[in-house]
Amino acid sequence: MAGPCAVESEELLFAAADAVAGAGAALLRGGAFKPRTSPTSFQGLGSEGLSLLAQASQRTGLPVVTEVMDTRDVALVAEHAAMLQVGSRNMQNFPLLREVGRQKRPVLLKRGAAATIEELLLAAEYILQEGNPNVILCERGVRGFDPSTRYVLDLAAIPVLRERSPLPIIVDPSHGTGHARYVPSMARAAMVAGADGLLIEVHANPALAKCDGHQALTPEIFAKLMVNLHELAPLCGRVMRSVAATDSARGTRSSRTSGDAAGSLPTGRISAGRISAGSKDRRGAGQTLRPSSLDDEVIAP
Ligand code: PEP
Ligand code: MN
Repeated sequence: MAGPCAVESEELLFAAADAVAGAGAALLRGGAFKPRTSPTSFQGLGSEGLSLLAQASQRTGLPVVTEVMDTRDVALVAEHAAMLQVGSRNMQNFPLLREVGRQKRPVLLKRGAAATIEELLLAAEYILQEGNPNVILCERGVRGFDPSTRYVLDLAAIPVLRERSPLPIIVDPSHGTGHARYVPSMARAAMVAGADGLLIEVHANPALAKCDGHQALTPEIFAKLMVNLHELAPLCGRVMRSVAATDSARGTRSSRTSGDAAGSLPTGRISAGRISAGSKDRRGAGQTLRPSSLDDEVIAP
């Protein structure tokens, strides 16, 4: 999944959306409601941003994932997006977790910057307990002492999570490193370590970005990274699915042109050629979700 940190304008969003779709991304990601450290920083376009995301989804055929920060916005965001993101700052916002747990949309749950793996799994449990089985865990770096990188990307979390949970795991090397030049190597490392997918920030013109420009890839670098990941996947026994390369994804595209503004990730099961339930099951019994076909697959960023 890929796209700009924040939805800033129609022009910039569509440029990024076209670029990530063209490079084979599976989902378009962009923030309409932005959790910013400073209240004076750009806070996102809110509902206008959601409309632009829905238009970008129609335009590219990519389902959209976007962050929801407030329980009062959950229904609105769920109308516009195919997947709901709970950001790291809200990983332990329990009312929000419960509310997204009552939705039919899959939830992308980002690890808190100071959260243990156990706390991440318990946060996921809040969502699962409300009846939503489709939770994707996201490692996005934890707070460290070295300012060389924005956070410390904890790639060891991948095998630990794999051991303890059947939920799909994705890695966000953009926030994890905070620098565009470190993103490709960490994306590759995440794939080799067994991540099911990647979350990568891409901006049409990073120098103009209102948020996280320094960690955003240009469309050109992103396209090269995608080629690179496709080449790498078979070397580590993985299969990387691109939207354009899958029948189910073609189904996704055509159904969206028929007017589902929120995109067509089916409810009740994470699917659409990127993350899908499968028959192999090596992740333990008694779990809510068995995304077991992911053992040797990685989704496109
Ligand atoms: C984001 O994904 O844009 C974001 C704000 O990430 P995080 O919650 O991991 O800081
Ligand atoms: Mn960001």
